[in-house]
Amino acid sequence: MAEYLTDNFSLQEMIRSSYATRMGLDNTPTRKQKQNLVEVCEVLEGVREMLGGRSLFVSSGLRKGKVNDGQGGARNSVHKLGLAADLDNLPDGNYEAFLQIVPHVSRGDLPIDQIIGEFFIEGEPRAGWIHIGLARGGGKPRNQILRASRVGGRTRYSVWAEPWALA
Ligand SMILES: [Zn+2]
Repeated sequence: MAEYLTDNFSLQEMIRSSYATRMGLDNTPTRKQKQNLVEVCEVLEGVREMLGGRSLFVSSGLRKGKVNDGQGGARNSVHKLGLAADLDNLPDGNYEAFLQIVPHVSRGDLPIDQIIGEFFIEGEPRAGWIHIGLARGGGKPRNQILRASRVGGRTRYSVWAEPWALA
């Protein structure tokens, strides 16, 4: 029986990592990490509603230290704390979904600290993914909207301002 953290999101989908499985790494949440994942799922329920109530695919949630580092996550990633989720394969495309969510984030409708449009490519709805991160230590969410792009082989984060269109 799957254990659900909220109505539509299971613990399993929030901690699964094919990298961890392949490398034999433990990705079992601590009590605190599990509490954090519940908070993330509550935010995801809001996002799901904004996107028309269809099911969302979480490609990555908790990534404990070695799992995160091995998968190439940022060293200070909130995925390590179970405070983030990546959404991919969204029904109308990842970038389109991002465009629907960001006005809400900018208005502070959801307690999102950072939403990052990761590696979108114009005209390729399946490219990239959406990162949603919550504030550490119960801090006040900054409602930051960022984009990640690859510049000279390195990941660069920059503020993504209205009208949110891909440059
Ligand atoms: Zn992420």
